[in-house]
Amino acid sequence: MPELPEVETVCRQLSPKVTEKILRRIEILDGRLLPLAIKPLLGRTITRVARRAKEVVFHFDGHAEQTRLAIHLRMTGRLIFSEDPPPVLKSTRAVFHLNKGYVAFCDPRRFGTIRVLAECEPEPGLDPMDKRFTPKALTVLLQNARQEIKPWLLRQDRLVGIGNIYASEILFHARTHPERPAGSLDSATIKRLHQAILRVLRDAIKHCGTTFSDYRDATGERGAFQNFLSVYGRTAEPCRVCQRPIRQFAQQGRSTFFCNHCQPSGKTR
Ligand SMILES: [Zn+2]
Repeated sequence: MPELPEVETVCRQLSPKVTEKILRRIEILDGRLLPLAIKPLLGRTITRVARRAKEVVFHFDGHAEQTRLAIHLRMTGRLIFSEDPPPVLKSTRAVFHLNKGYVAFCDPRRFGTIRVLAECEPEPGLDPMDKRFTPKALTVLLQNARQEIKPWLLRQDRLVGIGNIYASEILFHARTHPERPAGSLDSATIKRLHQAILRVLRDAIKHCGTTFSDYRDATGERGAFQNFLSVYGRTAEPCRVCQRPIRQFAQQGRSTFFCNHCQPSGKTR
């Protein structure tokens, strides 16, 4: 599933291609996307495409209440810009007709969504790419949390955008055991965690995200970050720091990857 870096990549690639263009109509090819209160956005100019949590959001000019269109790619969604009318494939669920060019929403598994976003809709959680994400802000979010830190990173109502791949990577770089209680981390560990979150997400964005199966960016290319993963998917392979084998276990139903030597649990220290 696309996480923050993959959605960020799609937005950065799409934004310069569609900014200043006018949305003429949206051709819906999959009835499951209806009803869509799209009328207020037609004929308006796109001012930018930006990420909101894990959604791709088209912003439009004007001061009306509804000025944003949010697309959630879910498992297999893709947004592909083309100058010419795109071929209608079995996976094409909608086509955005602009005054110059088209954006096709292709989604083989059809879990993706399109919705008009109300201006007043509250932010879902703190975005790690936001300037407000500081060690202090992270400390406040972690206060009194009883969950283990790995599942805590996955909940989207505290920090947004971190999924299963990057949660394991972040904890490795923070040298923090995935089962440590989130509310028990000392300030030095929180500082390392904050740095690791920024480092892993920024590196992943630099490499246009991670591709294991379906994810493609807005140019139809695969991401490259899977070649730089430290622990995710590397069970029994040597740790890149200490050479001991990477371990894997199921944590609340999701695979967690870690190095038992580099990420000591509080218990053994
Ligand atoms: Zn190690």
